[in-house]
This record gives sequence, C-alpha cells and structure tokens, in this order.
Amino acid sequence: MESYDLVIIGGGLAGMCAAVEAGEQGASVLLLEKRDELGGSTVLSSGYMAFSGTDMQERAGVDDSLELLRNDIIDVGGRISNKDLIETYVQNQLETYKWLIDHGIEFRTLHAVSGHSVPRGHTIDPHQAIQSLYKRVKKLSKVTILFNSPAKRLLKNDEGKINRVIYEEAGESHTVFASLGVILASGGFAKSVELLKLFAPQLDSTIRIGGEGNLGDGLKMAWEHGAWVLDLPYLSGTYGFHPSANSAVKSQGLAFYKGAIMVNQLGKRFVNESISYKQLGNAALQQPEGVSYQIWDQTVMEKAVQDDPLYDFELLKRRRLLYQVETLDELAECIDVPIDVLSETISRYNEGIKKGSDPDFNRKTLTHNYGIPTPIERAPFYAFESTVAMLATYAGVAVNSLGQILNSYGETIPGLYAAGEITGGFHGSGYMTGTSLGKCAVFGRLAALDALKKEKEISK
Ligand SMILES: Cc1cc2nc3c(=O)[nH]c(=O)nc-3n(C[C@H](O)[C@H](O)[C@H](O)COP(=O)(O)OP(=O)(O)OC[C@H]3O[C@@H](n4cnc5c(N)ncnc54)[C@H](O)[C@@H]3O)c2cc1C
Repeated sequence: MESYDLVIIGGGLAGMCAAVEAGEQGASVLLLEKRDELGGSTVLSSGYMAFSGTDMQERAGVDDSLELLRNDIIDVGGRISNKDLIETYVQNQLETYKWLIDHGIEFRTLHAVSGHSVPRGHTIDPHQAIQSLYKRVKKLSKVTILFNSPAKRLLKNDEGKINRVIYEEAGESHTVFASLGVILASGGFAKSVELLKLFAPQLDSTIRIGGEGNLGDGLKMAWEHGAWVLDLPYLSGTYGFHPSANSAVKSQGLAFYKGAIMVNQLGKRFVNESISYKQLGNAALQQPEGVSYQIWDQTVMEKAVQDDPLYDFELLKRRRLLYQVETLDELAECIDVPIDVLSETISRYNEGIKKGSDPDFNRKTLTHNYGIPTPIERAPFYAFESTVAMLATYAGVAVNSLGQILNSYGETIPGLYAAGEITGGFHGSGYMTGTSLGKCAVFGRLAALDALKKEKEISK
C-alpha cells in the first residue's frame, strides 16, 4: 500500500497551505484533488484576507489592533463563535500574512469590507496565490499532488485512529496509508443541491457560485466517523450580486458599504445597509418577489475602486448592469417603483444622515463601525438590481484550535484534522470579510504542524 506521513484532501487555499507547511517540515505528503485543477472556491473568491498590524495598514495610517480584530470577529459572529478558534486566528494571523508573502503571495490593496471597524481587507489575486503555493510544492520532493483523484472514504485502525484514505484515480479505487494523519480541506458545500436542501431550504432561490467540486464530500467522510457540526443554522447567502451573475461572470457590487441604500420594489428601504452582507441577504430574500436595488449617487460612484471585485462600479456600468439617470424620478421609472415613495424614502434618509440619526434603521456607518454615510443627492443617480448568491457555507465540522476534528462529546477523533471552509465554529452567526481565506491559511498550517507534532513559532 502507498504510504505518506500526511494525506490532505482538497487543493484550495487550506489544503495548499497545509501541504507547503508539511512539506517544508520534511514530511511526505499526498494531496488528493478531485478536479483537474487546484483552487476550488478559493480561485473564485474576491481575494480579501483579514489581517491586522500589517505593513500595508501602517503605510495607510490605519490604526488597527488585535483587540479590535478580535472584537469585530466576535461581534459579527453574533458573539457565539468558538473563542479558542478566534484567539488562535488573532494570535497567528500576522505571522501567516508574512509567511504568505515569503511564499510569493502578493497583497495588492487595502479596504474596509463587511464587519471591519477599520480597513483590514488585504486583497490577493487568488489564482496568483494558489499558483505561488503550487510552485513551492513542486520544489518539495516529498509532496505529491494527484489531480482527478477524489477521496471517497476514511478508514480507522484497530485503535480508532484514522490512518487510511480510499480514493479513486482513473476509475480505479486505491487505498493510501497516512501514518500521521489526514487533513480534510475539501471546502464547503455551496454547490451541493442535496445538502443545501437539507440544511437551508430557505436559500433555494439563491444563485449558486462556488467551486464545482464543493459538494460536502469531506463532511460526509467526517460524519461517518462521528464528527460534530457547528454553525449550520446560520447558513446564508451574500447580498450584492446582479441576478445575471454566475461563477464565470460574478458581477458583484457592494455600493452599500460606500454609501448606497437598498430599496425594495415598493421603493422602501428595509434594512441598515452597514450590517454584514449575509444578514443583508437574509433581509433581501424576504422582500416582495425577492427583488431589491442598490441606489446611489455620484458621490458614492466616485468611491469606486478600479479592478476590485467588490467595488468596481464602473465595470458594472460598462457591463450595462447599472441604470444611470439625472433625476430620482427617472430612476424610479427605470426600476418601476412608485416615484413619490422613492423620493420620500431618499429625502427621509438624507435628512437623517445629515442629522447623524437615520430614523428608520439607525444606520450610522458605511460598514460595521467604519465610515460616515453621505446623502444621496448628487446627480447622476444609479440603481443596481441586486440579489443573493450562495458562495460559501462557513459551517461544518467542529474542530479545536489545532484543527483536530471533534466528536459530539468534544473529544478528538484521532488522526483526523480539518481546515478551511469545511470547518464550523469560527464564524458563528456571521462572517467578517477576509476571515474565510484567512482561516484557511492559519488553520491549514496549524493542522499540518500538529499532525507532524511540530510547534509553530509565532513571530510578531
Ligand atoms: C465568489 C466568492 C467570493 C468570495 N470572497 C471571499 C473573500 O473575499 N474573502 C474570504 O475570506 N472568503 C471569500 N470567499 C470564501 C472563500 O473563498 C472560501 O471559503 C475559501 O476559499 C475556501 O477555501 P478551502 O481551501 O477551504 O476550499 P476550496 O478553495 O473550495 O478548495 C477545496 C478543494 O477541495 C476539492 N475537493 C472537494 N471534495 C474533494 C474530494 N472528495 N477529494 C479531493 N478533493 C476534493 C475541491 O475540488 C477544491 O479544489 C468567497 C467565495 C466565493 C465563491
């Protein structure tokens, strides 16, 4: 039987970080990837990673701290996230940021997104990131990646330790021995019709954007061996996609975090636009016919960020997905909402914003605790029909801070680890932008190190 120190299932950011870390520690590693390419949901992502205390923040004069980072993650997660996981993230994120840079990952820009009290979303090009890690893997002679090789089942030895993986390659079944452990890094289940129907039937009408291989295979493998699950009741979609969006052309715009409002087909606001785009998604799905629009003016338009997946409003215009007109009456006509209601909605909002107290939804910021909203009053005006997409599930197997999978009694399942989107417990009821990719890198490496019984030195 083939034998490795570690078998890693899935070649997204979590699996690749685990493979590089383990390989650099001298371990023999087999990474199984079910598709013919690496990257899963990682390469579809907007590439925001949440870090605090970085050189980029320092250069931009951003005053962040570990305490603020910790509080934001806990707040956005509805204060129910696993505190040990959050603390592990907080303590390891800066070193992980430097590790990623040392491994060729380029960080480009810095912005505030959902849940940030200060700008801490550091953007990567996710393809560039995965390719950099792949380049590193190719230099590690003891790390092997098998493509088109889905893992199917996990097997235990007589002592109850997971030590073998059954996988398929070219239609044939193989069993590989993993002497030190198996890391499940197979991502979430945003593409599984079966699991989403089971756990989140309320999201049936959402667009599905996620890695094609992300069907929850790893979850099922872990469940067979008694893994507990966390955060499943909080599955939600992400607001801000045009209804025509798909995995290839995502057409996403988060103008609400730059000062847009959201209105429904009645021309009324229905939510505080600064909250998590997951919660915005839940609110949007409850509007008549599930239809809603982001509406903004030229002041917001000028805050667009070229080439950014979330804030490039000019790109949406070039794709002809925006209505642009000179008056609010024309805007109401374009989106077929009652002119008088829309006009009343906007003047009430503007008055409130100018006085510093939004009378209807108590909006005080652009996103979370960051930024000050501006009135919608400077022509031209814009409307962007927006809907909810299921991108990532952010819920799954229970793990401890070393990435060891836990059973329903909180005990470890020997030899079995998980990292990345397959895990639950970290995000609680909400997700702060950038912590999903961030946790892939932090916990992918930690899981590998624990399986190899190595300790990581955290350089602050
Ligand atoms: C459009 C979009 C935008 C996003 N934007 C952001 C963002 O800006 N910031 C952020 O933090 N998060 C973002 N996310 C979420 C984030 O991208 C994911 O949570 C993260 O990339 C998951 O990484 P992963 O390594 O856990 O899984 P993935 O990257 O999904 O990789 C899992 C891999 O496992 C493989 N696999 C599955 N089953 C098997 C099997 N049985 N055997 C072998 N291989 C298997 C898959 O094919 C895949 O390659 C976004 C997601 C999407 C879809």
